[in-house]
Amino acid sequence: MLSKIIQEENVYQAKKLINKYENFVITAHIAPDGDALGSSLGLYHYLKELDKNVTIVLNDKAPEFLQWLEGVDMIVDYETQCERAELMVSEAEVIFCVDFNEPKRMGDMQSIVLNSNAKKIMVDHHLDPDMFCDVTISHPGISSTCELVFRLICRMEDSLLINKACATALYTGMMTDTGAFTYNSNSPELFMIIAELLRKGVNKDEVYNRVFNSNSENRERLIGYAIYKKMTLIKEYGASLISLTKAEQLEFNYQKGDSEGLVNKPLSIKGIKCSVYFREEPNYVKVSLRSKGDIAVNVMAEKYFNGGGHKNAAGGEFEGTLEQAEQIFRDVLPLFINNLQD
Ligand code: 5GP
Ligand code: MN
Repeated sequence: MLSKIIQEENVYQAKKLINKYENFVITAHIAPDGDALGSSLGLYHYLKELDKNVTIVLNDKAPEFLQWLEGVDMIVDYETQCERAELMVSEAEVIFCVDFNEPKRMGDMQSIVLNSNAKKIMVDHHLDPDMFCDVTISHPGISSTCELVFRLICRMEDSLLINKACATALYTGMMTDTGAFTYNSNSPELFMIIAELLRKGVNKDEVYNRVFNSNSENRERLIGYAIYKKMTLIKEYGASLISLTKAEQLEFNYQKGDSEGLVNKPLSIKGIKCSVYFREEPNYVKVSLRSKGDIAVNVMAEKYFNGGGHKNAAGGEFEGTLEQAEQIFRDVLPLFINNLQD
């Protein structure tokens, strides 16, 4: 038996809305990752089993390495199908907001979702949720939104409706948000859930291969270049800094998602506990931060890089140049590094 993490009242409210209405939209954060897509698709397949009209509407397309997930082709992306996205949101009676905690994270879709009269249900695991939903299921202690979706479906006594496609989507997000169960993944209950998902038919080895062993040559060379030529270690603070200019991205024919995971690599160096990766975009610098232990990079992202996230994995969008972003990181680093001796 899993512990009852989601409050009874929230389970009741979610089930009530699902029973009452027919037209559902599911949305997640911009640049959707494995957990955003997994939790969206997990809910999608569940609601389909209940014969609901359901559409996933996202700001951006799914990245290449997640295109194989069943149902991805049904996703409406606001970037290229703006009118259809608006229609779906306007017809929705219930909108699930998954894997994000503040409207800003929906990107350009923010206003249509906020202006919609649909009932909104948040299912998320980021700290400090904004209260813009009618039902807020927010559990920052849980390692992925996919795990929360699984828990919610079970608490609604619908675990029999979790089919293989649903289970595979949920497993994928649980795997990607924990670095294939290498961090945030010490909970025994996580593995009870995985066992259940395997019983539903998930092929975990195949999921791993599809997600982590499907890189392009350009991506691998870009990662190699970034580490060989662009990684600066600030050893006195156990920190690493990597930045990539627009020109460098062009040189490797950078495609969305190509530097996924790059920011984690320096943490594999002994003594490195904090890593930042800055990627130059046309109007801003995309910031990715990772840390180990007590170094709260979400606070750094919030205070200095117009972002947020989790204690050990955060990001933001900095309005300024690469050089300015680098300088800020170097300047504020000492404020965040404490117990270097472990
Ligand atoms: P990544 O570095 O993989 O892009 O993001 C890591 C985590 O940081 C995400 O799961 C998300 O929680 C958070 N994050 C990334 N970018 C942003 C941002 O622009 N704003 C906020 N609030 N959080 C972000
Ligand atoms: Mn997540």
